[in-house]
Amino acid sequence: MESDPRPGHAAEIHKDRSMVLQKEMIARHYERLERAPQCGDPVVYTFVPGNLTELIRSFGALPVLPEINALQSGMRGRSRDFIAAAERAGHSEDVCTYVKCDIGMLMSGNIGPTGTRLPPPDLLLLSYTGCYTFMKWFELLREQYNCPTVFLQVPYQGDGRLAPEHRRYIADQIRSDLIPALESITGRGYDEDRLRANLTLAREAEDDLVAVLSSAKHRPSPIDAYFGGVYYVGPIFSAFRGTAEGVEYYRELRREVEARVAAGLGPVTPDGPLNDQRFRLVVEGPPNWTHFREFWRMFSDEGAVVVASTYTKVGGTYDLGFRHDPDDPLGTMADYCGGCYTNLNLPTRIDMLVRYLHEYQADGFLINSVKSCNSFSAGQLMMLREVEQRTGIPGAFIESDLVDPRYFSAANIKNRIESYLQMLTARRKSSQP
Ligand code: SF4
Repeated sequence: MESDPRPGHAAEIHKDRSMVLQKEMIARHYERLERAPQCGDPVVYTFVPGNLTELIRSFGALPVLPEINALQSGMRGRSRDFIAAAERAGHSEDVCTYVKCDIGMLMSGNIGPTGTRLPPPDLLLLSYTGCYTFMKWFELLREQYNCPTVFLQVPYQGDGRLAPEHRRYIADQIRSDLIPALESITGRGYDEDRLRANLTLAREAEDDLVAVLSSAKHRPSPIDAYFGGVYYVGPIFSAFRGTAEGVEYYRELRREVEARVAAGLGPVTPDGPLNDQRFRLVVEGPPNWTHFREFWRMFSDEGAVVVASTYTKVGGTYDLGFRHDPDDPLGTMADYCGGCYTNLNLPTRIDMLVRYLHEYQADGFLINSVKSCNSFSAGQLMMLREVEQRTGIPGAFIESDLVDPRYFSAANIKNRIESYLQMLTARRKSSQP
């Protein structure tokens, strides 16, 4: 247990063992990254959607995820200054704030969110999963670091599936471009047995993650699948998929969540356990990180729990059945890249929301449209209308940003959430006999 440091919030925060494990493994990873230049550990920068952590680690290299650094800086109150530094250097106000936060951090000494220095990359690995900004971001980093770049071209699922030729195209690039690049920067040969072992570990953790996310079908839901969910997906979406640490974390998390189900308990929110759950919601879009707890509290104060979210699928759609397959190492990595949420077309995203509303027996759904991210926000109003039509459930639409605190208007957002929940209550009453 530790005290909440916010003024006027002296309440004790309960920390589950999984939370402690996650904090420790992240701290160890950043410490290792800081020592990487001295220890000769090669470093690969790559993005969350389409990350190939099992392959990177099979070469003994360490992954750095720039969006994770940006969001962590946002949560720690450091993104405002980083964004300002990037804007002073000429980056437009319209640019994704993850990029500006990262560039601003780099210009300010490249001290990462945990206070340790980040090493320069030996390789920039771009798996292109639907976001053009990723490409521009790495062009900026390449100018800075002048290191090799691999651009893995992942076909967009324009007609809602990854065709066999798309899959072959991605796997061929991994074989002929990426693996030689990793061999070159690490001085090691490709070791398929090691990759298979990592993929086996990934699959084990993926099973446990799906069990955790699916637990929200219970009443009360033992998790919040958005505000809690972003913590739950943290290790598997970043540096720890395919590692023994990752497996241990997800085993422990699943054990804790199953214990809460058995005890009929809800999730732990910033204000303590949420057992009295008056609304079950589905959320589309990323959260705001600069006011994360304040944002969460707007829901938990009203007894609203999120039972499913699309953002927690941005680094893999495991709940739809995908698992890494150690028997087909390159093919499974191709499937993984092609299936990340930002690589799915709008009808598929709508299907997902409709499915979540039904499967999780939700009362409503809410879209958080973030200014920064066209990969998410393009088409969201159309998605809102379509989901409403198909389910008969009204949705809500709010706007904020990822890590730019200038775009979080607490009063407006709170007002909209409260009005929406009041409308759901009125609907519920009017449908009672
Ligand atoms: S635009 Fe969206 S997907 Fe692309 S880098 Fe920014 S936040 Fe990520």
